[in-house]
Amino acid sequence: MMKGKCLCEAVEYEITGSLGPIYNCHCSKCRRWHGSAFRTRASINKNQFEWLNGSKNLSSYKSSENVTKFFCKTCGSPLISTYENKPEILGIPLGGIEGITEANIEAHIFVGSKATWHKITDPVPQFENWPVSEDAVRKTNT
Ligand SMILES: [Zn+2]
Ligand SMILES: [Zn+2]
Repeated sequence: MMKGKCLCEAVEYEITGSLGPIYNCHCSKCRRWHGSAFRTRASINKNQFEWLNGSKNLSSYKSSENVTKFFCKTCGSPLISTYENKPEILGIPLGGIEGITEANIEAHIFVGSKATWHKITDPVPQFENWPVSEDAVRKTNT
């Protein structure tokens, strides 16, 4: 079991089981949302995730037709993403999760829109956009 929280600690969550595929997303939206070179995120099944505290302190933003981002309305920390076309899956940034000792980054995704000032120096595979089907995500996670 893993726990995570936002910067002001008003919102806390718990994840059971293991994380699905972990990607570094280099798209311009993730860059702006996180204020960093890229977003390291995992997919998990919705039933692996529970808010422990502060679910009333959430705000949300529909960043595209398919994606809604949830964040703490006090401190602004990015928390989860939900997908209209994959309602059983959540996206979660690893930075807010505590106690992760090892993470296998499977891919750099959306490298076509990577920050010009950031250099990818590891041998992890790079993709122009999303590398796996929803089925692959589901399989990894069950
Ligand atoms: Zn907060
Ligand atoms: Zn992205």
